[in-house]
Amino acid sequence: MPLRVVQTADDMRASLATRRGLGAIGLVPTMGALHAGHARLIERARADCLTVVVSIFVNPLQFDRADDLARYPRPFEADLALCERLGVDLVFAPPPEEIYPEPPDVTVHVARTAEHLCGAFRPGHFNGVATIVLKLFNIVQPESAYFGEKDAQQLAIIRRMVADLNVPVRIEPVPTVREPDGLALSSRNQHLKEAERALAPALHRALTAARDAVAAGAHDVEAIKRDAAAVIPADARLRLEYLELVDPWTFQPVTSVTGPVVAAGALWVGATRLIDNVRCAPPA
Ligand code: AMP
Repeated sequence: MPLRVVQTADDMRASLATRRGLGAIGLVPTMGALHAGHARLIERARADCLTVVVSIFVNPLQFDRADDLARYPRPFEADLALCERLGVDLVFAPPPEEIYPEPPDVTVHVARTAEHLCGAFRPGHFNGVATIVLKLFNIVQPESAYFGEKDAQQLAIIRRMVADLNVPVRIEPVPTVREPDGLALSSRNQHLKEAERALAPALHRALTAARDAVAAGAHDVEAIKRDAAAVIPADARLRLEYLELVDPWTFQPVTSVTGPVVAAGALWVGATRLIDNVRCAPPA
């Protein structure tokens, strides 16, 4: 089916009416500024589903800083071209007033899984994420939805939401796509100045240092974190917001490594905040 761009929930339901029942509908929720990481999600959906829907919506509810929302990149025509190339059937690109005709009174509240990491530094962020994802699930009613492991805490929260609220959508995780130097692809990378871009892989290097330490049998979390943080060069443009070892499902910090953990970090590079995570497994 040729790519169609749809802006309203009613139009989305009408566009899907004839396809539903013929085969699976797959949803890839995004905020646009699509890159090869998003492309990997779309390709997975394309391989699995009869109908692929990509949503492009910069969700104001999940931004804790007005400047971040204002400067979020919105290259819509390029995004559409990529979707067309990848064989997407429908792009759902609603204006904010379609999604929030008035400030919502009922939203999704995430408790424990949002307590640490990004949840601790971005008040309300994951409530905003969970709310928009549930709204998109209700509008599109897909069989499957695709999420990147790059945003591991978000993925854990969506899995928890689907389980806790009996949402009939299968959550498909997709591994993080990286630049050759390890930097995770992100729409925010384009904010980086050249010299900042050269510094940015430090976050992934620090997290892989934690992964290597765990693989070598280290279990003292404070020591692992200290040694990992020391990988980040002392540079006025770099500020480590957090680096934690957490349980892969609950996202609660662990005090000692006794099984698989996720090493997750947030690093400010100039005015740009980058996040990343790697899975760590102790020796068998
Ligand atoms: P965003 O547009 O940043 O909200 O991301 C939309 C989806 O793409 C989320 O599920 C992200 O986890 C996923 N994603 C973003 N960057 C990457 C990446 N480098 N590799 C894999 N998935 C990604």
